[in-house]
Amino acid sequence: LPTAPAAAAARLCSGAGGEAEAAGGDGAMLRHLARKLRASGPVTVAEYMREALTNPGQGYYTRRGGVGESGDFITSPEISQVFGELIGIWYISEWMAMGKPNTFQLVELGPGRGTLTEDILRVFKQLASVLSKCDVSVHLVEVSPKLSEIQAVMLTGGKVQPNPEDKSAYMEGITKTGIPIFWYRDIQDVPPGYSFYLAHEFFDALPIHKFQKTEKGWREVLVDIDPEVPDQLRFVLSPSRTPATQNFIQPEETRDHVEVCPEAGVIVQRLASRIEKDGGAALVADYGHDGTKTDTFRGFRNHKLHDVLSAPGTADLTADVDFSYLRKMAQGRAATLGPIKQREFLKNMGIDLRLQVLLQNSGDSATHEQLLHSYDMLMNPEKMGDCFNFFALLPHHRLVHPDKKDKSDSKPPLPPVAGFNELLLK
Ligand code: SAH
Repeated sequence: LPTAPAAAAARLCSGAGGEAEAAGGDGAMLRHLARKLRASGPVTVAEYMREALTNPGQGYYTRRGGVGESGDFITSPEISQVFGELIGIWYISEWMAMGKPNTFQLVELGPGRGTLTEDILRVFKQLASVLSKCDVSVHLVEVSPKLSEIQAVMLTGGKVQPNPEDKSAYMEGITKTGIPIFWYRDIQDVPPGYSFYLAHEFFDALPIHKFQKTEKGWREVLVDIDPEVPDQLRFVLSPSRTPATQNFIQPEETRDHVEVCPEAGVIVQRLASRIEKDGGAALVADYGHDGTKTDTFRGFRNHKLHDVLSAPGTADLTADVDFSYLRKMAQGRAATLGPIKQREFLKNMGIDLRLQVLLQNSGDSATHEQLLHSYDMLMNPEKMGDCFNFFALLPHHRLVHPDKKDKSDSKPPLPPVAGFNELLLK
C-alpha cells in the first residue's frame, strides 16, 4: 500500500493500518506517557494524540513538524505554487463579491512552513492595483515554535519581534511584500475584524475521540500500557460508558466505529460566529468524509504509514476530517458550501488555464515535466484529486438575500461563490 507513487509523496487519504514503519526515536515521549499511564490509568485517544503532537517539550509538531519533501509528509502547497495562487484568487473574488471592504485580515490556522501564505501574498502583490485601497494584515495561528521560526524566515526573511507589547500576538513582523504579520497560539487571540480564514491540513491534526460499538453499547477506545511488554502501548475499551460516549454519539448513528473531533467543532463554532459578527469567509481544505467513514486514525513517518502507538512524538498522527460534523457545528451562525472534491474546486478555479500559461512560459523540459507532474498529484483522482475536499463558511447573506420575503426583482442576483460551481447550500 505505501509504495504507490501518491502514497510515497503525500499522506494517504484513508485506511488505517497497512505496513507500518518500525519504531524509533529517542523514546522520551514514550517514557513520559508510560509513567503517566502507570500512575493514572488509560487515556483517551484525543489526549494521547494531543500529547504526541503538541506536547510543549516533546510533541511531534513542537519539535519537528515534518511538513515538506525532507519531512514526513508533503502537502499540496509544497507540491505546486499554483495551489496557493488559486486560493489567493478565491479570497480576492470573495472580497470583491462582498463589496470590497477597505480592510481585511488573512488568518491561517496551522500554516506549516508558510508556503501557502507566501503563494497567496504573491497573488495579492500581483493584484495590488485591485487591492490598492485595502488594508491587509496576516495572522498565523501556530503552536509549534519550530514551525513559527520557519514561517518567519519564509515570510519576513527572519525580521520578527518576539512578544510585542500591547498585543495578543507572541511574535510580529512585516512580510517581504510589506504587510504586517502576527503569530498566535489560539484563534481566540486573533483580534476581531473582517477576516478571511484558511485551514489547510489543519483539522486533520486535531485530537479525535474514538468509539466502538459493542454488545454492551458504545465504549470509548483508550490508550493504555501493555502489561506484558514493557513500554509498549495498546488500545483498550473503556469498561463502561464515558462522558464522551454520552455526548458525542448521535442516537441515530448507524456505524459501529466512530471518530469525533470536538476541538474541530469548537474552532468551527468560533469561525462561524466571527464570520457572522465581523464578516469574511473561511476556506477549509483537507482529506475527509461526510460522516460515513469509521477507522481513519493513522501515522506517517518518512512518507510511510507508521503504527500510531509506536514511538509517539516521532510521527505525524492524523485522522480524516468529518465535514458533516463541521457543518453541524457551524449551523445557524454561518452558511456552508461543500465539501467538494479538490479536483473539482481547482478546475472551477481555473487550474487548467493557469497550467497552460505556465507551460507556455517555461522554456526547459525539466520545468515542463515538473509542472505536469505536480498538476497530476493535485488533480488525479487516484492521488490527491478525489480524497481532498474544499469546504467554506460564509455569512448567510452571501448566499441568500436577507429579505427573502421580498419577491420583487429589484435586487441583482448574488454572484456565485468561486470554486463551488454548484451551490451545495445546506
Ligand atoms: N497548512 C500546512 C501545514 C499542515 S501541518 C500545509 O498544508 O502545508 C499542521 C499544522 O498545524 C502545523 O503547522 C502544526 O504545527 C499546526 N498545528 C497542529 N495543531 C495545532 C493546534 N492545536 N493549534 C495551532 N496549530 C496547530
